[in-house]
Amino acid sequence: MPVLSLVVSIFLLTLIGNDIKKITTGNETSFTKWAILIEALLLFILPFLFNPQIVSRRLERIHIARAQKKKHALDLKIEKQIRFNVEYRPSLVVRCPRCGFESPTGAKTCFNCGFKLNF
Ligand SMILES: [Zn+2]
Repeated sequence: MPVLSLVVSIFLLTLIGNDIKKITTGNETSFTKWAILIEALLLFILPFLFNPQIVSRRLERIHIARAQKKKHALDLKIEKQIRFNVEYRPSLVVRCPRCGFESPTGAKTCFNCGFKLNF
């Protein structure tokens, strides 16, 4: 990456040099000034584009954001399960017709096999 960055920046510098030479010798076209502007801008942005530290940090940030999103979704799912599945009176249980496991009353599904319990 650093070698590529160096090569590209040298290339851009020669381009800028050529354009400046065109202007000083009076051979400029209407495009020359814009070319210099774009080349200078690229030269300025280049280190940020190719800097491995910045690139890796950016990737890391994307990764963290994705992980947080995933965790948040999981938290919501667990919260939902707790709210709808575990609101029960501990003294009462309901027997699953499929596997015979005793789930707490109020459970929407069997705690053992996931069979849908009807109420
Ligand atoms: Zn069951």
